[in-house]
Amino acid sequence: MTDRAYTWGAATSTGMDLAALLPSSYDDPAVPTPLLQPIGGNPHLVRLDISREATATVASCQQHLIALADAYGTDSDHYRDAAASWSLQLTALISAPNGVRRVLHPDGPLSLYVSTDDAGHYGIVFEPLTRHCTVAGCHAVTAAGDQWQPSRPDAVVIDHEHQPSHPADGPQPGRWNTRL
Ligand SMILES: [Zn+2]
Repeated sequence: MTDRAYTWGAATSTGMDLAALLPSSYDDPAVPTPLLQPIGGNPHLVRLDISREATATVASCQQHLIALADAYGTDSDHYRDAAASWSLQLTALISAPNGVRRVLHPDGPLSLYVSTDDAGHYGIVFEPLTRHCTVAGCHAVTAAGDQWQPSRPDAVVIDHEHQPSHPADGPQPGRWNTRL
């Protein structure tokens, strides 16, 4: 019973209530001692602390996904890639190894930083997709000022009207990656 109450953080008070009801001793020495520890020794609760600032960043990330869906559609690669990468990061956050306490901090408008009590840390970083030409064989990208340029010094750029992967004034496509 206390095992189950643990999930709600009520194991101690429930245990004290039960102890008050139980007889102080049993006459039958053949009664087996009940198992009082959680099976496997693993804690019932996984702890994840989120700073107040980080909750705002998490909300911003969700808003960014909504903006991508509104601008490019829920069937678009821009939305689906971003949403899948965000979902993977959240799943990794809540399925961390037992016994490691994590704290989530903001780290930029759409990025987060996870610190752990075993001195480990990693970033959940939104990495923007470079705005590039989608025509096969053309390796043009836009730089600051929206000027087209080769993606590398030796990259092939076709002399044509480039087809941008996304508009310069739309929400920024990208994906959330783990950065150690
Ligand atoms: Zn092009």
